[in-house]
Amino acid sequence: MTQLIKARQGIITPEVERLAKVEGLTPDELCEKVAKGRVVILKNNQRKNSVAVAIGEGLRTKVNANIGTSPDCVDFSDELHKIEVAVAAGADAIMELSIGGDVDAFHRLVLDKFTLPIGSVPTYQTGMESIEKHGSVVGMTVEDMFEMIERQAKRGIDFMAIHSALNMSIVERLKNQGRVMDIVSRGGSFLTGWMFHNEQDNPLYTQFDRVLEICKKYDVVLSIGDAIRPGCIEDSLDRAQVQGLIVAGELVQRSLEAGVQVMVEGPGHVPLDQIPATILLQKQLCHHVPYYILGNLATDIAAGYDHISGAIGATTAAIAGADFICYVTPAEHLRLPTAEDVHAGVIATRIATHCADLVTGVKGAREWDLAMGRARKELDWEKQMELSIDPPTARRIRAERNEEGAEACSMCGGFCAVKLVGEYLGKTGGSC
Ligand code: SF4
Repeated sequence: MTQLIKARQGIITPEVERLAKVEGLTPDELCEKVAKGRVVILKNNQRKNSVAVAIGEGLRTKVNANIGTSPDCVDFSDELHKIEVAVAAGADAIMELSIGGDVDAFHRLVLDKFTLPIGSVPTYQTGMESIEKHGSVVGMTVEDMFEMIERQAKRGIDFMAIHSALNMSIVERLKNQGRVMDIVSRGGSFLTGWMFHNEQDNPLYTQFDRVLEICKKYDVVLSIGDAIRPGCIEDSLDRAQVQGLIVAGELVQRSLEAGVQVMVEGPGHVPLDQIPATILLQKQLCHHVPYYILGNLATDIAAGYDHISGAIGATTAAIAGADFICYVTPAEHLRLPTAEDVHAGVIATRIATHCADLVTGVKGAREWDLAMGRARKELDWEKQMELSIDPPTARRIRAERNEEGAEACSMCGGFCAVKLVGEYLGKTGGSC
């Protein structure tokens, strides 16, 4: 039985019990959200070593880090290191998106070594194996697609992006409306090529019940992939994207009826003024299930700094109701990220989501900032370091231009406002 079906029966699972405490809710409150589909719990029933994570309405906004090889860079030890870096930086989940090397072996290693939820896009591996078996990505058979979903589910993958909300009608609309960036989703491009080459509609759409059957069996959270997401600001909220959301909403309804935990993926590149409308549309059309977005990137022109573009959009999106944010690294649009890029991407996204959580009233968010304010007032540097979102970086920067044990910092030195005002007011500190 999936967490969704159990919640509908009023069963408080050990995961709900624990996660309610983590999120500051009662088990009954969390159970009700899961039962309505407004919260999903990432935990494949085949994984014994994993720690479940809850995503959705009223909970802390979660952060995902993508890692994985490309055909040009196949170094699994480097990808393992990137996961370690992402975990240390505070990522809540990892999507393993390798398209080079022995993906089966790497998945087993990752699932064994790490306890946080692991996601995947099965179509990637299907496409890569199809090149070996059939000579091209578009040669993959329908059975190849479903065999891969089952293979990865059985192995323990906790959530899967499956591009079921893509059909011929959407692709025709996209062709006719003249998008700037057409399709930028890798899975979407594989399946669009497949549909044209094989002159058939997308099997992940036409045989959606088979997807549901597998997800239900292993309690994999289905993440309906956004194959049609806008790849530049100009394409945001065009007719093809909205049609994709309507289809996603229909598939969400079928997933919930089947007892399958489901979330919906979204853009991508969205100007700030369109983010609230994008989130509202998804929530209304998709039965308020969790929304999992990339960024949003608030501008297209920040190459080298796309983690900042993504963080600006992510805060607006999370305030508007996005639940799960896929990080963007400084390497986005440029190359495979390094471990340093992964660290920068996770931290930038965590800052963005925390800023949103402060506004939306997520339990514990304000308390964290209040503790930092108090530590600053007390000039308690050790406490400030501990409370920083990235303590090693905060410690390194403080150590660079301060004498050890200095009461103030080198910004104002003897004119430290915190210290002076504290003395005027007869207190130990003020606030900088
Ligand atoms: S008031 Fe100036 S010297 Fe004092 S802690 Fe703040 S920045 Fe540093």
